Order: sequence, then structure tokens, then C-alpha cells
Amino acid sequence: MLLPMKDLLVEARKGGYAIPAPNAENELNVRAYIEVAEELRSPLIIGSVSHANPNMYDYGRIVTDLARQATVPVAFNLDHGMTFEVAVMAIRAGFTSVMVDRSKLPYEENVAQVKEVVRMAHAVGVSAEAELGHVGIGSNYAVDGVSNFTDPELAKKFVEETQIDALAVAIGTAHGLYKGEPKLQFDLLEQIVNSVDIPLVLHGGSGTGDENLARACRSGINKVNLSTDMKYAALQNLKKVYPIGEGEENIFGFWRLLQEGFKDALRHYVKVCGSEGKA
Ligand SMILES: [Zn+2]
Repeated sequence: MLLPMKDLLVEARKGGYAIPAPNAENELNVRAYIEVAEELRSPLIIGSVSHANPNMYDYGRIVTDLARQATVPVAFNLDHGMTFEVAVMAIRAGFTSVMVDRSKLPYEENVAQVKEVVRMAHAVGVSAEAELGHVGIGSNYAVDGVSNFTDPELAKKFVEETQIDALAVAIGTAHGLYKGEPKLQFDLLEQIVNSVDIPLVLHGGSGTGDENLARACRSGINKVNLSTDMKYAALQNLKKVYPIGEGEENIFGFWRLLQEGFKDALRHYVKVCGSEGKA
């Protein structure tokens, strides 16, 4: 069933667990994630960035259709919505949650822009997530991680002012691959949990380490965003049967190869079936 993200996260917060939020780009991985969620009876949050698929509306129809058929609760979240326009499009495309990422802006500007989207989203029953502090890129972790941690007192004010449903926190994780070992600030997480009364989100779950992640999920994190590790696992699985050269380790390139394979096969069978030119 397709639900607002808030509904899933409120349950997770009550139960003291986190919901995985893998990034998806197309029907291939959306189906894979839903199958696993059903197999393991887990709620699921499908996260997608606006440029993941060439057409947000087509993609939205696929995801919402599959999610409605799912036998477990599924939310569909716009990951890192960077503009007001993209948030509007996502809502029209059927997303049940939008993340409004204004974490690089000064506090007041972050609040103002988040509020604008929250008002619109809530008017149609869509949840909203925003980020305070800034979760950087893994390769820059050593230089920009520390200075951008979430401030617990400011987080409380931010949640009250914006009325968001979930707060993405910066406590030492980073997007993409890490340079070195991430050091999660569990003391800081505890302070944020004590001052904020809505579900918390951890971005940059990949490469954070199972022990770190499990501890974070028991300590107040209710949603873990996962992208790099999902794509890496898919590529590793592929490499078992199809060797990929160095420098080609990019899942986005491989989607295209897959697609070409499907198209070639169908071209063949259209001819075999004799349906060419009959439409
Ligand atoms: Zn993120």
C-alpha cells in the first residue's frame, strides 16, 4: 500500500527502528526493493532524485502503481528536492513525501523555503523532510564534515518553525564513498533526539558500517538513505557473470546497456512473431 512517509516514520519512531530508504531510478530496482520488502515484511521508503528518470510523471505512475499493489506499507519520497518547481512536479507525479534540501542556505532562508513547500505538501496530505546542518560528500568528509553538524537547539526551533514531518541530521555521515572511516557523533544524536520530537533521517547510509548504522537506528534514527551501496551491490552481482573493465563502474551506464539488451531482444522477437508493421 502506498502511504504518506509520515505514517511509516511515526510507527518507526514508536517502535524504535529505522526504515530503509534505498534510492531507485526505474522499474528494475523499484520492483526489486518491493519484492524484498514483502519477503521480509518490512515497510519501505523508495527515494528518488528528480533527475533519476527522464520523465518524472511516467516514473511516478510506475512507482505508485507498484507501491499500491505492495502488501507492505510503501512511501515514495523525493530525495533532495532542490527547487520549489521540482517539489510541485513530484507531488503531481504521485510522490507521498518531498525532501526540501536547503541545507546549504543560511538558516533563515532555509526555514523560509522549507515552509513554502511544507504548506503546499501538507495541503494535499504529502509529507515533508528537510535538513539542518549539512551532510556533505564523502570525498570531502575530512574537510567539511565537522563544521556542518546539526545543532540540537537550532533543530528544535527549525522543526517548530517549518512544521516538517522528518528531519535529516548531520552527525558524521556523508554521501557517496568515504575517505577514511566515518565517526558518528552518538552524543550529538542523543542531544538531537532529546530536543526534537519528530522522526530523524540519516543520509549517506552507505559505507557507514553495520555496527554504526544499527546503533544509530536504535538511538533515534528512523530512516536510512541508501544509494551507493545498492548500486555497488548490483554491479558486483553483474560482474560475477559479466566482467566490467576499470573506469566503467558506473551503474547509470549499465542501465543503458540493460535497456539496449531488452530492445535488441524485442526487435528479434517482433520479427519472429511477424508483428512488424502491423500496428
Ligand atoms: Zn542525501
